[in-house]
This record gives sequence, structure tokens and C-alpha cells, in this order.
Amino acid sequence: MVTLLLVAASMSTAIAQTISPQMQEKAAQLAGEALADDLAYRLVESLTTEVGPRLAGTEAEKRARQWAVRKLSALGFANVRVEPFELPVWVRGLEEAAITAPFPQPLVIAALGGSTSTGPDGVEGEVAAFTSLADLAAAPVSAVQGKIVFIDEVMTRTQDGSGYSVAAVKRRNAAYTAQQKGALAVLIRSVGTSSHRFAHTGQMRRLTDSAADTGVPAAALSAPDADQLQRILRAHDGVRLRILLTPEQRPAGTSGNVVAEIPGTEAAGEIVLIGAHLDSWDQGTGAIDDGAGVGIVIAAARHLLVAGPGGLRRTVRIVLFGAEEVGLVGAKAYAQRHAQTLSQHIIASESDFGAGRIWRFDTGVDEARVAAAQELGVWIRQMGAGPGDNNATGGPDMKYLREAGVPVVGLRQNGWDYFDLHHTPNDTLDKIDPQDLAHNVAAWVSFVYLAANGGEYYR
Ligand SMILES: [Zn+2]
Repeated sequence: MVTLLLVAASMSTAIAQTISPQMQEKAAQLAGEALADDLAYRLVESLTTEVGPRLAGTEAEKRARQWAVRKLSALGFANVRVEPFELPVWVRGLEEAAITAPFPQPLVIAALGGSTSTGPDGVEGEVAAFTSLADLAAAPVSAVQGKIVFIDEVMTRTQDGSGYSVAAVKRRNAAYTAQQKGALAVLIRSVGTSSHRFAHTGQMRRLTDSAADTGVPAAALSAPDADQLQRILRAHDGVRLRILLTPEQRPAGTSGNVVAEIPGTEAAGEIVLIGAHLDSWDQGTGAIDDGAGVGIVIAAARHLLVAGPGGLRRTVRIVLFGAEEVGLVGAKAYAQRHAQTLSQHIIASESDFGAGRIWRFDTGVDEARVAAAQELGVWIRQMGAGPGDNNATGGPDMKYLREAGVPVVGLRQNGWDYFDLHHTPNDTLDKIDPQDLAHNVAAWVSFVYLAANGGEYYR
């Protein structure tokens, strides 16, 4: 209690110093306008309908960039451009799995991004089941060699998504650990919290190009199919599977980040960066991941663009990252390309956690600047969100900026249901509540307005 009062007292002092009552009032007014507007939803609808799935490095992702350039230009942003970069491209092929003994039946799977191919004939073998990646790592080669590995590790459902980072470790590493032990292929229980019969895809860890460590063919199994397989394994020995995966790895393709700005007035060289990612996995239409984020940040910036005379002191820069899903490739390209000006990035954040409402405002700034950075969330707290901790990551695509010292904040969304849909064919527009999306835009517009007009620095 004492701590809370101290934080509140130091915050109100800081508010008096850097954010005037007029600015707070203006931020609240802009947020109110955003709450009554549906631009974000119309943008997500347009992107998911007119572009659809947009896997990194493909022609579909190129169409997404063209879509973004068109929309951002039409909405009146300045300096709209694509910053291209190259990357290897992975494309999904056939994917089939079945129990062949003792009870033959099909299973629902999805190849993991980066998986190798089984070849057109597939592989067939006895199952070696493990409760976790660590169990597989500890197993003797004799228990795995020539078999199909199944890792049946459940992900924990949480509001803040913290179960994901734990569960995703097996997705990233299973194919390589299984390869070291001579397995034919690997299946993992989907990294997700759904009980629907869709498998959750996602990227494996990228290793070198050497043929020795490409990993065995790897796929995720839907949760009900993982339950089914587990029931059979508990009661029977000699359970066998057949798996066919024919993805393709292409040596080179093009992706790009789409950038647009509202130029600042007296501090135009100081940048407030707001991001989302434009690419998606290939099976759904990328509505919650990350069409929602694309809609939220563009709509928030649009409300500032029409905010009237006076403009913004600092430049607001929208970055729609390419190739996030396959390993933050666009994030790295942005940090490299803009290395000389990262010290002028005043604060940065990405919206990439679906369309749920914001329940907490986190900072990731210099310890001495926490109170000042928390001021940026003043409207968000007035709407009932709590002040968060100072461990914000700012979102996946902020990784390299954060590492370069750019201060970040996190407008933390309720992710209780996010991993029911994440990386599945079920990630589609109908899952987004337009009111929740508008709530996000309002929160972002208030934060960005204060960040772009305040005089505070966060490092
Ligand atoms: Zn995402």
C-alpha cells in the first residue's frame, strides 16, 4: 500500500512537469473520438478480405505491402514507402498424418514453419512418446532411433500470454533434438490453448544451412488428436503413425517493411514508433495475428492526423513489419537500416496480441524514467487498466530496438482466448469484436498523442 501511494505521488508530480492538463484533455478527447469510430475494423476487414493469408516472402505478402501503401497514402500519411529486404522462403506442401496401428484413423496436423519434407512417400514408424522436450533430450538414442517422436506437452492458458514462451520452446527445438537421436519425424501437441480440431503452426528455430542440422520433418497435432493419440498410447504398445509432409524451402525471396509518417513540427527528428506486422501465417487470414494490430496502429495515427492545427511536436512513424512470423526478419532489417537514428527513437511499441481490450500499461524504460513513462498511460488507467511493471518488451518486433536502447511501452491486451486461434485456420475476421478494437485504438491514440507532444525523454 505504501509503495502504491509513493508511486502515485511521484507520478502526479511528474504529470505536472511534462504533461499539462490541456494535453491530457486533448488526449482524452481524441480517445473519445476513436471509441466512436470503426476505421480499425474496416482496415482489418479490407486486409483480411482483399489480401487474405500473407506468408512472409510470398507474392501474397507483396500484395499486402501494396495494400498498405495504398491505404496509408489514401489516408493522408507522409513519406509512405517500402523498405525491402531478402529472406529464404518456406512454403507449406501436403500434410497428412494417420494412426496406422492398432486403430487406423486420420489425424489433423499442420507442418511447422521451416520443417523439412518427408518426401512424397511419407514416413511410417512406431511412436516414441515424451511428456516434454526435456524428456526427449534426456532419452537414450535407442528409445528414439527409427521412430516417430510425439511430444505431448500442454500449454497453460493465461491472460498475459506468459504460457506461450514456455510452450513455444518445444516447437522451436523438437525437430533438431529428434534429429540428433535419429528419429524419422516429430509431432508436437499444438502450441495453443484451443480444444478445436485445428493444429497450430509456427516457426521452428532457424539453424545454419548445413545439411546436418535441418531437423526432421515436424508438425503440430490438434489438441483433440493429441488427446486421442495419448489415450491409445496409454493402453497399447506398438502404436504406429504415418506422416506425409512436403513443404519446400526456397533459397531467396523478398519481403519489406512498410513505413509511413506524420512529420513532427519543432522536434521532427524525434520519433515515436508504433508498429504491427503485416505478414501472417498461411492458413487463416491473419485477423487477430496481426491484422488487428495493423488496424489499431493505422487508425490511431489517423486520428492524430486529423487532430487539427498545432500538429505534433515529434514525428509519429508507423512501421508495418514484414516477415515477423518466420523469425523477426523485418524487425532486424529495420534496426539495421535505421541504426544511425535509433538514438532519436523516443519511444516505441507494437500491437501484436490480437484484439482483446487493454488491461495494463507496462513500461520498458530507464528506471529513473518509469514515472514519466507511466504518464503516457494516463487515459488507459482512467479507463480501468492498471499501471504495470517496467519489464515491457514492447512487442516481438521491438526486440532489436530494445536491445539498442530504445525505450518501449506495452499496451497489454487481454490474451485469455488469443491462443485458441493463434496460428490456426480459425484466425479469421469474425473473431474480432469491433468495440474491443475501437477500445484499443482509443488507448493507442491517447498514448501516441502524449508521447508525440510531451517534452519527456525515457532513457
Ligand atoms: Zn503476431
